[in-house]
Amino acid sequence: MAKRTTSPGDTALPATRKKILGIAAHPDDLEFTVAGSVARWTREGRDVTFCLVTTGGAGTNDHTPDFEGLIPIRERESRAAAKILGVREVVFLGYHDGTLEPTITLRRDLTRVIRRVRPDVVVCGDPTVRWYGTEYLNHPDHRAAASAAVDAVFPSAETRAIFPELLGEGLQPHKVRELWISGSLSPNAWVDVGKTLDTKIAALKAHACQVGKGEWVEPLLRGWAAEAGKRAGLAAAEAFRRMRF
Ligand SMILES: [Zn+2]
Repeated sequence: MAKRTTSPGDTALPATRKKILGIAAHPDDLEFTVAGSVARWTREGRDVTFCLVTTGGAGTNDHTPDFEGLIPIRERESRAAAKILGVREVVFLGYHDGTLEPTITLRRDLTRVIRRVRPDVVVCGDPTVRWYGTEYLNHPDHRAAASAAVDAVFPSAETRAIFPELLGEGLQPHKVRELWISGSLSPNAWVDVGKTLDTKIAALKAHACQVGKGEWVEPLLRGWAAEAGKRAGLAAAEAFRRMRF
């Protein structure tokens, strides 16, 4: 069989998309989902910021001695993972995990971050997906963070009259040019992560309080990447619903 030398299914971000903001509920969500693409974008010289809505203090039952004790650990591990990915800044909004809701307060907080960072592209999860397959119910925090993020992108980030108090903070409206939704059941863009999958694996393993020694991390992420790549003719990919405004 002829070896494929091009990647027809790969979606390269235009050079004009210099700033990217990833928004997620939990400290390790972006590493699980989009970190291969993030590593590629930072290698291409783009400026990536992460915004983590909750502290991740509720973590897992196994690793949670108490709510507060886990917070600094998760913050430290998030920064370590971000460093591996070449992410410039991590913003922590400090909400409690487990009970997150897509409130107006959260939408305003995310609007504030968007207006300050002024990204060309926002990356978040899919707020419409309640479950995947037959074994995984999408975490309500994931849906809540994604829902508020989408609503912050449009209309509140770009509309002067929404959240006028942000104008008082010196934050002018900002129009986001693209929204990349991960975990979509109707993806239309695939990023070739063949060269950055190892970096993604290392970044997720940095969340040691969640993954332990993480022997399962590599086969899991490789399996997902192969599965996502199938539809695009790529050996390893991350899939997105890409929207352009
Ligand atoms: Zn999560």
